[in-house]
Amino acid sequence: MATEPLNGVGAAPGLAIGRAVWWRKETPQVETKTISDAEAEVDRFEETVNQAKEQITRLRETTRERIGEEEAGIFDAHLSFLEDPAYIDEIKNRIRDQKKNAESVCQSVTEEMSQMLSSLPDEYMQARADDIGDVGNRLLLLLSGRQPLDPSLLEAGSVVVAEELAPSDTAQFPPGIAGMVTARGSQTAHAAIMARTLGIPAVLGLGSSIDNVSDGDTVIIDGDEGTIVLNPDADTEEKARREMERQQQLREKALEKAEQDAVTADGERIQVFANIGGLKDIETALANGAEGVGLFRTEFLYLENDHWPTEEEQFDAYRKALEAFGDKPVVIRTLDIGGDKDLPYAELPEEENPFLGHRAIRFCLSNPEIFKTQLRALLRAGVYGDLWMMFPMVENVSEIQEAKSLLDECRQELDQEGIPTADSIKVGIMVEVPAAAIGADLLAGEVDFMSIGTNDLTQYTLAADRGNEQVSHLYDAAHPAVLRLVRQTCEAARKRGIIAGMCGELAGDPEMAEVLIGLGLHELSMSAGAIPVVKEQVRRTQTEEARHLADRVLELDSPQKVRQTAQKG
Ligand code: PEP
Ligand code: MG
Repeated sequence: MATEPLNGVGAAPGLAIGRAVWWRKETPQVETKTISDAEAEVDRFEETVNQAKEQITRLRETTRERIGEEEAGIFDAHLSFLEDPAYIDEIKNRIRDQKKNAESVCQSVTEEMSQMLSSLPDEYMQARADDIGDVGNRLLLLLSGRQPLDPSLLEAGSVVVAEELAPSDTAQFPPGIAGMVTARGSQTAHAAIMARTLGIPAVLGLGSSIDNVSDGDTVIIDGDEGTIVLNPDADTEEKARREMERQQQLREKALEKAEQDAVTADGERIQVFANIGGLKDIETALANGAEGVGLFRTEFLYLENDHWPTEEEQFDAYRKALEAFGDKPVVIRTLDIGGDKDLPYAELPEEENPFLGHRAIRFCLSNPEIFKTQLRALLRAGVYGDLWMMFPMVENVSEIQEAKSLLDECRQELDQEGIPTADSIKVGIMVEVPAAAIGADLLAGEVDFMSIGTNDLTQYTLAADRGNEQVSHLYDAAHPAVLRLVRQTCEAARKRGIIAGMCGELAGDPEMAEVLIGLGLHELSMSAGAIPVVKEQVRRTQTEEARHLADRVLELDSPQKVRQTAQKG
């Protein structure tokens, strides 16, 4: 008998089968010793610091090549600790003053700094506490003559099993890893983002059931369902392999036709766009057949920097994105900061409920100078392509009016300065708060388009934090309550004669494509990898049947039943 599946969070889609290899982090045991030659001990410490720098620089480089510059930037924080006199000189001074061995001094200084950082209110600084812990651990291992975990243990086809995976872990994994499984972590964890970027199926947040996994076990990972099966019987394994092959063939076939339009079997055109987080995603988006960009998350431009990006820096990025897509539409979302997206230099005050707090359009409207810098950059960049500007987290009509009046102000200023702006820019909103969906008919009168953000709409409708693995069993965008809001929004848009699209994760779920078309969506935007398969699904859809299917699923009483019904079609 195959064992029962263990449940976690499906963090990166796909099926994988492989041998479990535990990735256990060693915390070195440190003894305190008195030393006679302090200078020799300082030299030994300095050599170790250099070794650590070399290792981290290599890790940075591999990450940049394999994943991208943004993710590689994580290691800059590690390197900066190794250059920081408050850390390194403090250790050297204490070795000299206290005549103690480098290991014990390094351990206490690391702990002190880590505690100090984690006690600060700022989330960014708290995250630095983990970074210094990681750096300190590396130094201690090297000082004791050991090496940090050896990635060569991970042969191609291994399933990495860990309590939690830090970016410095995933960055070391050789190509060919079959999948990842962890006890802690959610869909928004670093490991999840890296797994999705690399196309490796991952199930995170398994909790204590991860203790059932031993080295060498055969593991089937189902990254869509968020489950794993340990040591399956021959029959179960064979079925999973056949399903993997089937999925692979579908992906390959879909990729061949990725460039072609997505038209339903009865001739209705559905536009399939890509979600991008920055310029680095453009190539993949185009290679997968994106017909434009349905969501450019501009906050990454802000998150990557250590200062508010200037008008010029933003103009440059938006212009490049617009030029890359030529006459295809590019929806650029204005700054969506707050909630789970902290900005270190913004010094945002701590909030009891950040997701219900001063975020996105709310933050922008109360910081008009910051907002206007972005609006000016967008107006200028609009000259270079088909720009659609979108405001996030809108909840009422006056927010749209205020944002549009700031936009007018910027346009007038630029006109006076003799700087060209585009006059054909479309202005729209994200529908990601239930109030916006329920009142979509009121908001629709103010805009050219609406795009449904199911990631937030789901968490607000179901009162289930999108990043909390403890409530992940409740968080499902296929919940009929969420789908009813989707229909309501599409209806309001249709009556007003404006476009309704979707850019939340649900839009990229091929099994839900028919339902979404049936609900009235004509534009779906998703991570690039999902585009070819969703396009194929659109081609198989008959709109009339899709409408009946949508009617039926809205009457069901659980997301599970919705998904089962959608799968059968
Ligand atoms: C959403 O909420 O669905 C969305 C697309 O925005 P983000 O995931 O960036 O919050
Ligand atoms: Mg959102």
